Amino acid sequence: MQSIEHFYPQLLTPAKVVITMHQKPDGDAMGSTLGLYHFLISLGHEATVISPTNWADFLDWMPGIDQVINFEQHKEKSISLIEQAHHIYCLDFNILHRTKHMEKPLLAANCTKILIDHHEQPQEEAFNYGISNTAKSSTCEMVYDFIVDSGHGNLLNATMAECLYTGVMTDTGSFRFPATSASVHRMVADLKDHGLVHTRIHNNIYDNFLENRLRFIGYALLNRMEVLYEYNTALMYITKADLNKFNIKTGDTEGLVNYLLTIQGIRFGALVIDREGERKWSFRSKGDFDVNSFARTHFNGGGHVNAAGGGSYDSLDENIKKFHEVLPSYKNQLQ
Ligand code: 5GP
Ligand code: MN
Repeated sequence: MQSIEHFYPQLLTPAKVVITMHQKPDGDAMGSTLGLYHFLISLGHEATVISPTNWADFLDWMPGIDQVINFEQHKEKSISLIEQAHHIYCLDFNILHRTKHMEKPLLAANCTKILIDHHEQPQEEAFNYGISNTAKSSTCEMVYDFIVDSGHGNLLNATMAECLYTGVMTDTGSFRFPATSASVHRMVADLKDHGLVHTRIHNNIYDNFLENRLRFIGYALLNRMEVLYEYNTALMYITKADLNKFNIKTGDTEGLVNYLLTIQGIRFGALVIDREGERKWSFRSKGDFDVNSFARTHFNGGGHVNAAGGGSYDSLDENIKKFHEVLPSYKNQLQ
């Protein structure tokens, strides 16, 4: 993978472009791809955003999201776009299998592939150009840098600002996580200068749920949380029946794992959800307990030091049992 600045000259030649992100895109994945999409369109490129899967309803207000193609719903069209693309941008993931069923067509595509990402241990050999910086708050911040560093800061507008702010806000936990650097605040100041109305974004993302979601959170906190004080750890599990009982959709469980870290002294929070097809883990930590490594070692996952995820085809009970079995070996690290 060559360093991204070697790619900048190619931005000046309009091309057929596909932009994609990890499956079940979150605010940063959708915000960074759409921010880049609006930028590339303004440069005259023919760009399409393809999401590997569906996404949470709370993102549906985002400018340009009505043009995003869901790969699982439009396979043929997506594959044809991937085959015809001159450039494929891969945003907010480090390993191609994070795009689920898109991995094969992406591997097969014989075009220029560009990575912009902030996750640990990127699959560098899969990309021609790229930047992987785990110190960055969000992929949205990296897309902002990409626009400015390539000499196109003059093209920033309120639409791009709304998309980019979304991901930096969600990935920094509203500007509180350690990666919230001075450069993040400087970027936000610049986005404000370009017409960003930040309260609108907070309302759209955080204050736009249905009653059932809040009832579900209350239920989960009361009935599905286990606090393991000996290990400064809290575990939560959600069954299929819980998801059905409260009519929980993609996105409704976002942020649930963060409640675990609000308990005094808790340094490690783990949430496992019995999803369709697999059991999905979310891990969060405070300080230097490395959940990326924990997720990689035990639950076939990865991510960042303080936020990671994983998956398993074993039953929910087996997953919970395994978590209890491996936790004691981390006792010292969790003190
Ligand atoms: P979340 O818990 O919000 O789903 O994910 C937390 C972080 O871990 C995100 O940055 C996400 O991209 C990453 N992540 C989530 N699940 C997986 C996984 O199965 N594999 C890898 N490599 N990363 C994941
Ligand atoms: Mn991200």
